Amino acid sequence: MFRRILIANRGECAIRIIRSCQELGIEAVAIYSEPDAHALHVKKADLAVMIGPDPVKSYLNIHRIVNAALESGCDAVHPGYGFLSENPEFAEEVVRAGLTYIGPTPQAIRDMGSKTKAREAMIAAGVPVIPGSDGALESVEHALDLAREMGYPVMLKAAAGGGGRGIRRCDNDEELRENFIVTQREAMAAFGNDELFMEKCIVEPHHIEFQILADQHGNIVHLFERDCSIQRRNQKLIEIAPSTFLDSDLRERMGQVAVAAARAVDYVNAGTVEFLVDKDRNFWFMEMNTRLQVEHPITEAITGVDIVAQQIDIAAGNPLPFSQDDLSHHGFAIEFRINAEDPKNGFLPTPGKITRYHSPGGIGIRVDGCVYAGYEIPPYYDSMCAKLTVWAHDWKQAVRRSIRALDEYDIRGVRTTLPFYRHLAASEAFASGSFHTGFLDEHPELLDYKPFDAREDIAAAVAVAIAAHAGL
Ligand code: ADP
Ligand code: ADP
Ligand code: MG
Repeated sequence: MFRRILIANRGECAIRIIRSCQELGIEAVAIYSEPDAHALHVKKADLAVMIGPDPVKSYLNIHRIVNAALESGCDAVHPGYGFLSENPEFAEEVVRAGLTYIGPTPQAIRDMGSKTKAREAMIAAGVPVIPGSDGALESVEHALDLAREMGYPVMLKAAAGGGGRGIRRCDNDEELRENFIVTQREAMAAFGNDELFMEKCIVEPHHIEFQILADQHGNIVHLFERDCSIQRRNQKLIEIAPSTFLDSDLRERMGQVAVAAARAVDYVNAGTVEFLVDKDRNFWFMEMNTRLQVEHPITEAITGVDIVAQQIDIAAGNPLPFSQDDLSHHGFAIEFRINAEDPKNGFLPTPGKITRYHSPGGIGIRVDGCVYAGYEIPPYYDSMCAKLTVWAHDWKQAVRRSIRALDEYDIRGVRTTLPFYRHLAASEAFASGSFHTGFLDEHPELLDYKPFDAREDIAAAVAVAIAAHAGL
């Protein structure tokens, strides 16, 4: 087993990994950029290494991070999610330095990182894949021909895409012509690669993904599914597990396909196979994420498996401690991504100082976060500042508990998605438990909530200022 692990990440994600390390008796080494010197992940780690002045580039500096791992005597590196977690060169450098990379092989990261390559591999493995182009689109004309042949609507997608960016629906020739240029430009700016491909647009789909664990001895299991259909602009906001839309037969079939998909690429470690499911319960492979996923806590809640601990165990060469038949799921879990964003203002990020912070507690509640009263949310990173995960025996109780927990949650100083979620969780639409990816667009009334009283925010800010002045 490892003695010391470097965590190549920051914030909530780094803290999540530190916690499993502590429980396993492994030392955790944090990295931080100069502006992150007072971040919580730095305080919680056993050791921390400053890796540069730049708030963002520091966390992407492969050389510096690998050196930090060597200098601090680590024997393994965990990439977390975001940053370098899907960068095959990083995985390669880690291995070249004689360290263990806690994740899949560079080859698997590379093959699944390109959505066109992934589609090819899955088609070869007999996995149902969303109908679309064979590989990349060569030109607008090529795209137009294909779209007319397949029939509109179609989706234009960036082969190197992620985080919901580089995806556009096109309903006719004109939109396709316009979007082709725009999506190419967006893909180049965001991913340094303007390769586009096309998929049939699945209408009102459910986003259903399966969590996979694969050890180095050929054992592969799935930990059931997550329903991530509540999205905004193709980005997940609220996730639930298990899906209320799947019956046990479909769950079993999709789980088997997800395991077959992982086996087809000799997958090792934790990964997620994402599918779209239409209203008639047809399902197709969409992509595979070769890393830990933001929404993994809901799977942990319904299965009792610590996914990060399993990742570490697998990387250390241990066989999975369970087979598929040993695994079962209990109750329902819901994750709310608490983002420093103002839903009433187009979800614009709201960096700034948190003046008051009280997280909820009690039965069935888990909070993963990196913020506290007095913390200044920097403008440089993802706006997610905490995740609330609620577990209960059945869906109805999970909803009631969510409302209770969201009521208890108090974050002031900056606007967050909290009051929006509170309103949403109490709605009839949410209580139904069944959603497709157009859920929020179909329910604009959910944005019609009462924000926290701004006067209270000011009062809290004044109280903090007075306390600071008085040296309290
Ligand atoms: P998907 O690519 O399927 O949307 P996730 O939503 O699970 O997958 O995770 C990817 C996103 O997580 C990134 O696009 C980024 O916005 C966010 N992220 C990356 N690193 C961190 C971090 N350290 N803390 C919080 N969020 C992060
Ligand atoms: P990312 O890598 O950014 O996570 P995905 O390929 O996983 O991109 O797609 C993200 C989201 O975009 C999906 O969850 C879904 O809401 C929407 N989407 C993607 N492809 C399609 C499609 N062919 N039809 C309908 N919706 C799609
Ligand atoms: Mg995805």
